Amino acid sequence: MPRPRKRRRVWREATPAIFKPVGVPLHQLNTITLFHEELEALRLVDLENRYQEEAAEQMNVSRSTLQRIVNEAHVKVAQALTEGAALHIEGGTFRVATHYWQCADCGHVWEVEHGSGQGAPARCPRCRSSYIRLRRMRRRRMDRKSGIR
Ligand SMILES: [Zn+2]
Repeated sequence: MPRPRKRRRVWREATPAIFKPVGVPLHQLNTITLFHEELEALRLVDLENRYQEEAAEQMNVSRSTLQRIVNEAHVKVAQALTEGAALHIEGGTFRVATHYWQCADCGHVWEVEHGSGQGAPARCPRCRSSYIRLRRMRRRRMDRKSGIR
């Protein structure tokens, strides 16, 4: 039985989408599914030029897992583009990153999904105080120069 996969952390959840060749109905095309965590890996590594070590930490996976996700994503995208398949961005094993906010008056802590469009809350949902702050997530500091690409 396959081991249950750990959910990868995604900082920006893409809108589910299908990209396909022009003029061919979808039902006549092969469909390749690109998972949300695969697209996130492409975004971090290819678009934002993160070191793989850093991207791995952002997604909460090992560097070798990140490497595998990126490789699989590259193959899927290349295959869809060259073979004229539909590329369906959908599903996967992931969770969207959250920010933790804390009220300085009552100490209440709550989560806001990253990239949810909710932005910074104005008031504490419990006591209505406006004295709130973003709680730093515990993150190991990375030295970009030490990363391996
Ligand atoms: Zn409060």
